[in-house]
Amino acid sequence: DSTGQGDSKTSTEYDFLKASKRELEPMPSLSARMHSTLHQYFGYTSFRPLQEAIIRDVLERKDVFVLMPTGGGKSMCYQLPALLMEGVTVVVSPLISLMKDQVDGLEANGIAAACMNSTQSARENRDVKTAFLENRLKVLYVAPERLMMPGTLAFLKKGKVSLFAIDEAHCISEWGHDFRPEYRKLKLLRDPKTGFPDIPIIALTATATERVREDIISQLNLHLPPEKGPYVASFNRKNLYYEVRPKKETFSEITDYLRRHRGEAGIIYCQSRNSVEALTKKLNIAGFRALPYHAGLSDSERNRNQEMFIKDDVDIIVATIAFGMGIDKSNVRFVIHYDLPRNLESYYQETGRGGRDGSPCECILFFSRGDRFKIEYFISQKTNEKEKDISLVQLRQMVAYCEVNKCRRQTLMEYFGEELPEPCGNCDCCLTPKDTFDGTEAAKKLITCVQELNQRFGTNYVIDVLTGSKNKKIRQNRHERLKSHGSGLEFTKEQWKSLASEMINTGLLDVSGTKYPVLKLNAMSRKILKGLEQVELVCPEGFAPEAEESFMPSTVTGTKGKKADDLSFSEEETFSDKFSVASDI
Ligand code: ADP
Ligand code: MG
Repeated sequence: DSTGQGDSKTSTEYDFLKASKRELEPMPSLSARMHSTLHQYFGYTSFRPLQEAIIRDVLERKDVFVLMPTGGGKSMCYQLPALLMEGVTVVVSPLISLMKDQVDGLEANGIAAACMNSTQSARENRDVKTAFLENRLKVLYVAPERLMMPGTLAFLKKGKVSLFAIDEAHCISEWGHDFRPEYRKLKLLRDPKTGFPDIPIIALTATATERVREDIISQLNLHLPPEKGPYVASFNRKNLYYEVRPKKETFSEITDYLRRHRGEAGIIYCQSRNSVEALTKKLNIAGFRALPYHAGLSDSERNRNQEMFIKDDVDIIVATIAFGMGIDKSNVRFVIHYDLPRNLESYYQETGRGGRDGSPCECILFFSRGDRFKIEYFISQKTNEKEKDISLVQLRQMVAYCEVNKCRRQTLMEYFGEELPEPCGNCDCCLTPKDTFDGTEAAKKLITCVQELNQRFGTNYVIDVLTGSKNKKIRQNRHERLKSHGSGLEFTKEQWKSLASEMINTGLLDVSGTKYPVLKLNAMSRKILKGLEQVELVCPEGFAPEAEESFMPSTVTGTKGKKADDLSFSEEETFSDKFSVASDI
């Protein structure tokens, strides 16, 4: 079916262009060939949204950039052209295990395919090379590090390459969630001497913000026709329900949930191997069949657990982010995030593994500010300054998603540069809006304090001043003399923190600087100060506007005082263990 084609603005414009073009330049034979190839080799009767237009461009030897959600059918966009073009389509793909699956799948459909990677024997390698040189292959998968090894490009020049397909193209960008340095070298494909400047490139990804998109296009030097730009399919997955819950008594919340959803398949993501192991054990003891998945398990155990999950032999898989890329299980009914993901791209990608059959899937994230600080700490240990800044900005966006009191889907789609005009009606914010109160006075106090501090201090310091702290720094700076000092005793520090976050997240106040973020006024803050804007804020925990008198600030201890759930980032684990880089997932 192609009814979804009008989902996004870009695709609509695009289809129009395509349609008019088709009229001018009748190619019935091409269209017929495309459809018969689709049917003959893949067994499908129609193209998915955008596939046909993309394939036509590829066949016209144009560079193409494809942004399509997971499960959208990206592979077809280069596999079908590979069959219709003379020569061999070279596919760059980051995971060796995925490559094998793809090659097996193609061969099962009668398509001559092979791969080149480090796990092959010398003999296999030689056979593949011969097949390539003799033009007996249609599709050749190559790992990026292999492709960019000195001899490989020179070797490929001896045969006939029809097209380069760069799958998971976001790996090329430091702004993506899965940056791989070896992808950077792909820019050499366009080198006039050593590369293939005349061979078209199709780049494909499921995750790309505007920034990543630009990065991919410039790194690969893609020549996209200026009036067209990338093909963008809608990222809105309507059947996914989004919810954020406070991370408290998380284990019993999860077991309650699982009890109510017996027999349904789901994934529980944790940030570290240790939490995966611990949670799996606790679930097993509580009577739930669940299996772990992380990069610390042996290959055979990992594959076995994955297979059992895919074949419905076990319903629950507890996993690090190592689980998922390329996994095609259609009936995942819930995706729970036990810990805070580090950025929205990963989060979207991970939740995207749910509901691929189009039936509902619940995506629940447990959020605590403690998790945020732990990730911040981990980021602060990084040595590369640019990476550090990027990670901090991404974390801020992730936190904003959790804290925001507006439609989650709108927030997510906005992040991906897609506008959703109406609240979705299928997320916790739409279905159970939080209690709010007239926060104009509170907002004014906070903004005034930021102003009196000359916009040179971070949230914690500002709040210390507001709540009348006489700590050393405040005494040294003589800030106990400010009018704002002690002007905000109606809220606790924790409550002020949540008010301040909300104000930042909703643009009532700015933060600047990544290393030492300081609060700044913006146009909106000034309007509020002047009394030109009323502000509606979410009631912070423990605060009920009508019960203000009985409210006792001193009884509320901050998150520090609370006993954290014993599985969540326990102290004995090192942070590097918690927040693994690729090697520790
Ligand atoms: P992506 O790489 O975008 O995540 P895939 O290329 O793995 O998605 O495709 C997802 C699924 O959709 C695969 O099972 C594929 O065979 C199927 N598919 C692709 N194109 C079509 C089509 N035109 N009609 C029906 N199914 C399709
Ligand atoms: Mg894919």
